[in-house]
Amino acid sequence: MSCTNVSVLGATGSIGASTLDVIRRHPGRYRVFALTAHASAEALLALCRVHRPRYAVLSGPASVSKDEFSRLGTELLVGHAALDQVVAHPDCHAVMAGIVGAAGLSSTLAAARAGKRVLLANKEALVMAGPLVMRVARAAGAQLLPVDSEHNAVFQCFSEKKSVRKILLTASGGPFRAVPLESLEAATPEQACAHPNWVMGRKISVDSATMMNKGLEVIEARWLFDLSAERIEVLIHAQSIVHSLVEYVDGSVIAQLSNPDMRVPIAYALGYPERIDSGAQTLDLISIKTLSFEKPDAARFPCLPLAYAALRAGGTAPALLNAANEVAVEAFLGRRLPFTGIARVIGDTMERVPAGAAETLDAILAADAAARRAARAQVLARAA
Ligand code: NDP
Ligand code: MG
Repeated sequence: MSCTNVSVLGATGSIGASTLDVIRRHPGRYRVFALTAHASAEALLALCRVHRPRYAVLSGPASVSKDEFSRLGTELLVGHAALDQVVAHPDCHAVMAGIVGAAGLSSTLAAARAGKRVLLANKEALVMAGPLVMRVARAAGAQLLPVDSEHNAVFQCFSEKKSVRKILLTASGGPFRAVPLESLEAATPEQACAHPNWVMGRKISVDSATMMNKGLEVIEARWLFDLSAERIEVLIHAQSIVHSLVEYVDGSVIAQLSNPDMRVPIAYALGYPERIDSGAQTLDLISIKTLSFEKPDAARFPCLPLAYAALRAGGTAPALLNAANEVAVEAFLGRRLPFTGIARVIGDTMERVPAGAAETLDAILAADAAARRAARAQVLARAA
């Protein structure tokens, strides 16, 4: 079997680490072609020492010598445009889109445009530009394989679309699922990032605490599986063992289960259609004993209805939602906004910035910029 060259975007992050762990288990089957980071130059160099990629990309400000990389046989490229360049390289076969946030849109689109196998973790790309990414991927014959655990689960359970009644995305409810509602105002970044079941980057950890993560995932599912908002439901499942379910017209419901370990969906997307070792522990249902499910509470998680509203509004509304969320989460992590201010900033931004058509990348990026300006102004106003 020939070796698959994989570019791992966001290699210094949580998805990057899990991806490299799976790749390391299959020498001869996968080779690391490129590794990228934004500002973590030392961490990128350390990964290059282990994986010896052909290219390393530092998309942010660089303060590192190219010689250290070239001694390893790795060419260091600097700047955001280099991301698009490495993913489109003819020798790159698969791309892990593991950059966090809107910053991952351009390289995800570039990989799709170049017809690569795209392992999609960067959900924000589909939230901002779902129809565009799907159109570009289809035209170029790119294979978009979902890595987000819920979408990967749905992908594993999905057969014929016409026989699907709905899909059910599970959500753990995060660290604040059962705390008194009054305590949310004073919740700290440390508490918000202490997810009960998953170890993830800080932005997605806060998104899980607000449940905006599930809102973004509803939008992501709308485009990946071509289902309207009415056919995408959210269920709280605190144990994070059932990763999502597909309900069929005959009343059958098919679910995918595993321990909460991102290496499972990553290995599935890497190996598809074959299954390969992920390194995850076998699921022990006897020790887990109970799987519980409940309806999400809109008063506790106002970001979820905001995301459904953006999806129903269409056009650039999801891009506005995403940008406002990124600004609000960053402000919360920087202790410039209370936890409960996140939903308020997003709601106000959605009211103030009108949504338009999302036909082109320029229109989407303009909406993103307008929402960031409006959201920043609100963060400042709230701090005053
Ligand atoms: P992390 O914060 O752990 O890692 C983010 C990565 O992106 C780092 O390599 C970082 O580089 C890089 N990066 C940050 N900003 C930029 C930028 N402006 N331009 C280019 N690269 C940048 O995030 P996660 O791994 O947790 O998440 C990555 C994506 O995967 C997100 O979209 C998330 O929603 C999705 N996802 C994550 C899951 C998880 O379990 N972690 C589960 C499902 C989906 P540097 O280190 O230099 O800052
Ligand atoms: Mg997920």
